[in-house]
Amino acid sequence: MSDPFDFSLIDAAAERLRSGGLVAFPTETVYGLGADALSADAVERVFQAKGRPAANPLIVHVTGIDMAATLVDGPLGDDATRLMRAFWPGPLSIVLPRHQRVPGIVTGGGPSVALRCPDHPIALALLFAFGGPLVGPSANKSGTVSPTTAAHVREAFDGQTALVLDGGACQTGIESTVIRLEQAGAGAGGGSSMGGGATILRPGVVGAEQLEAVLEAPVRFGPGISEAGAPLPSPGMLASHYAPRARTVLFSDWSELELFAEEADSASIAVLSHSILAEESDLPPRAILHRLPATATEYAAALYCTLREADAPGTSLIAVHRPPLPQYAQADSPEAAAIWRAVHDRLMRAAAPR
Ligand code: AMP
Ligand code: MG
Repeated sequence: MSDPFDFSLIDAAAERLRSGGLVAFPTETVYGLGADALSADAVERVFQAKGRPAANPLIVHVTGIDMAATLVDGPLGDDATRLMRAFWPGPLSIVLPRHQRVPGIVTGGGPSVALRCPDHPIALALLFAFGGPLVGPSANKSGTVSPTTAAHVREAFDGQTALVLDGGACQTGIESTVIRLEQAGAGAGGGSSMGGGATILRPGVVGAEQLEAVLEAPVRFGPGISEAGAPLPSPGMLASHYAPRARTVLFSDWSELELFAEEADSASIAVLSHSILAEESDLPPRAILHRLPATATEYAAALYCTLREADAPGTSLIAVHRPPLPQYAQADSPEAAAIWRAVHDRLMRAAAPR
């Protein structure tokens, strides 16, 4: 456990942001690498430090609806306002038309900007002390497993590159849901995003059902997200992301794991399983079992930390037991189904060919 956070560090962190520097901060989802969102130079430093492709846009973190409104072209619109009221602060990023005061580098040159208000006292304290919007991509090198502790951040960035605010482990543990709101009738209605469609670009713990209940309209899924909630037919359909160093595969039952084990030296296999029935004796000889919780919320919170532990220097293969399919959780709770869907999304990308 980390010590209680010393809020007197916030002023120095905000000062560092004002001079164009980088500050890594905890949020409820994962740690973010913060920089002044209105400074193209500061944002450029974030892309450099992460090794992030210039076309991959950054999420802009705000203190709330009022700050969000200053970053959007035209009025916020009814749909965006409803979502912000319902889910902020919280793990929902909303993609809206970009105001010209947001530098193009933030959005990968595109016409829209993703906005989110994080539900974390340290992130909010930093935003208020800085007094403006902060970009906050995950504080890791591009494509790798996202950080859920300050120690994870320090593995990627030295103290020169980024000041790290240590808020202990992130509670949610996976990245925010990203939803895009379309404008009603392109060309008509000016900058308002009222009454258009909504598309989930990245699944997270805020699920489609919860979003539909607030929008009172259907929510679609973007390309590469399986709508039934089942894993996609092949990880090859997705670009690699959230990937450990070791080759990562998914298995559904123990006989399938044996097939993978035949190809690898079983002493170097790390097996991740949520099954309470999993026993060392199910595993290939000398493979190491890393247990994950069997419930959705706890699984998501533990996933990245466990993947990192499994990705030790001697590991050549990480085999992850596929968690329950979202449709089986649906009846119990739509919230759990949404989390399992997001977990499957991350696992599929971790196991995608590189
Ligand atoms: P990360 O910052 O690492 O959590 O990743 C941010 C995610 O949000 C990526 O999947 C981006 O592609 C997505 N994103 C950020 N801004 C936009 C935008 N303007 N339009 C669409 N997707 C976005
Ligand atoms: Mg990321």
